[in-house]
Amino acid sequence: MICLGIESTAHTFGIGIVNDKCEILANVKDMYQPKKGGIHPREAADHHSILSGKVLRETLEKSGVELRDIDLISFSQGPGLPQCLKIGAVVGRSLSLKLNKPLVGVNHCIAHIEIGKKKTNASDPVTLYVSGGNTQVLAFVEGRYRCFGETLDIAIGNCLDQFARSQGLKHPGGPKIEKLAKNGKWIGLPYVVKGMDLSFSGILTEAIKKAKTNKLEDVCFSLQETCYSMLTEVVERAVAHTDKEEVLLTGGVAASERLREMLSIMCKERGAKLYSVPKEYSGDNGSMIAWAGILAHNSGSLENDTKIRQKWRTDDVVVGWI
Ligand code: AMP
Ligand code: MG
Repeated sequence: MICLGIESTAHTFGIGIVNDKCEILANVKDMYQPKKGGIHPREAADHHSILSGKVLRETLEKSGVELRDIDLISFSQGPGLPQCLKIGAVVGRSLSLKLNKPLVGVNHCIAHIEIGKKKTNASDPVTLYVSGGNTQVLAFVEGRYRCFGETLDIAIGNCLDQFARSQGLKHPGGPKIEKLAKNGKWIGLPYVVKGMDLSFSGILTEAIKKAKTNKLEDVCFSLQETCYSMLTEVVERAVAHTDKEEVLLTGGVAASERLREMLSIMCKERGAKLYSVPKEYSGDNGSMIAWAGILAHNSGSLENDTKIRQKWRTDDVVVGWI
């Protein structure tokens, strides 16, 4: 079986072609870059619709697969920006009607988990999914990926990006903060864990305030140390609670060396193993949607439903393939 998967939840429009062994035949994406400020949903959607044809042609060319060889189409049905989600749904529906092949909508967060598991050989991890739009600690328990902890406001990636932007640094902020933090020292920031949940917006406000009177390197260092410690604490408690022996780090912020380092120290102390998704699949991409599409299709998921689900929660999905 060959599946073509379409990703369009936020800044990235991507298409991947994947077979049922999860061999990635092609994975092409194009990212919308706002001229200033954060993502403008309508501009991002325009970007996706303008580039969809080009990305599709490139993906097909790279894969060596003809359109008629595709057995299944999948698309990111949510959660995400509705304007952007609609473009993926329309492209998916058009292809499905043209090729007369089934169409399956998949949950974007679950796609991040499943591609991470497959590409690292993790079998039953506690997953830390950290990206520009999401921050969740998830683990599979009784038929669903349960959410053990999550952000109460903005995502960690968004916190880093907004702080970077406030300092005149270009998107994406994470890597720039990481570089500056290497020469920084601890100056303290509020640490906000509430039960198993996290909050980053107050820390962001305080960091911006501190940057007015402190060295930028020191604020970057303190921001990383604080936010990544908070994430590590919640993941550790989820591991302790579920008794799982694996931790999977996925999403764009998984590229952070310091976050990986903190998690790996925690895992070592607990006798757990840390798996980090390879960089090429850590950010939003179409191949993770294609792989999740194959899993959903094989387990009899609802088909040909193109209604987007802007706030679709990870723990709403009944996972039939595990
Ligand atoms: P995604 O939304 O999954 O595509 O991930 C994008 C997010 O990952 C953005 O918020 C980036 O700032 C963040 N990011 C990318 N590289 C790094 C890094 N090395 N350290 C921290 N955050 C990063
Ligand atoms: Mg994502």
